[in-house]
Amino acid sequence: MRIGVLALQGAFREHILTFEALGASASAIRLPGQLEGLDALVIPGGESTAIAKLMRSYGFYSALRERHGAGMAIWGTCAGAILLATHISDAAADQEPLGLMDMTIRRNAYGRQVDSFEVELDIARLDGSFTGVFIRAPWIESVGEAGEVLARHDGRIVAARQGDLMATTFHPELTGDPRVHRLFLEYIVGSR
Ligand code: GLN
Repeated sequence: MRIGVLALQGAFREHILTFEALGASASAIRLPGQLEGLDALVIPGGESTAIAKLMRSYGFYSALRERHGAGMAIWGTCAGAILLATHISDAAADQEPLGLMDMTIRRNAYGRQVDSFEVELDIARLDGSFTGVFIRAPWIESVGEAGEVLARHDGRIVAARQGDLMATTFHPELTGDPRVHRLFLEYIVGSR
């Protein structure tokens, strides 16, 4: 399986290390041409406005839509989840999402006072709880008909799946626990 992690800005190294801990290899993707032949791509957390700007200047918008159409699975964490959505509540000026996953996501949903927090989550298909690390996190306000909710916190959707797309509003790559990465590889990439 060939996995890439978009490496323009944000927490991309941690994703690569987590895949490696599972015995999978993942490469850092810095140019659209490197998407060729990938089975899956992760768009990491970071700052969605900065990632969007860099994606635009390198020509990633059309390349990602095209590769996804050709069968590449995508997982967005936090800022990456924001970029996957069809609708962003509180989008920054001229912040364009990829519009691949039918959902509405609210940026900085927990407010400025709550910079970050950790909470135990129940995630569909995982045994036992998983530590959700939320950093200036969004939440998912709604998913479309084809969307499957994978986890909620305080009633809000924090993980969802739509076919070969997955969104988590928290940071599994910062926990040292590779179970969400394994879930992505086994259930989402593996079921394409
Ligand atoms: N608040 C950030 C944004 O809007 C996301 C934060 C994160 O990825 N940890 O992009």
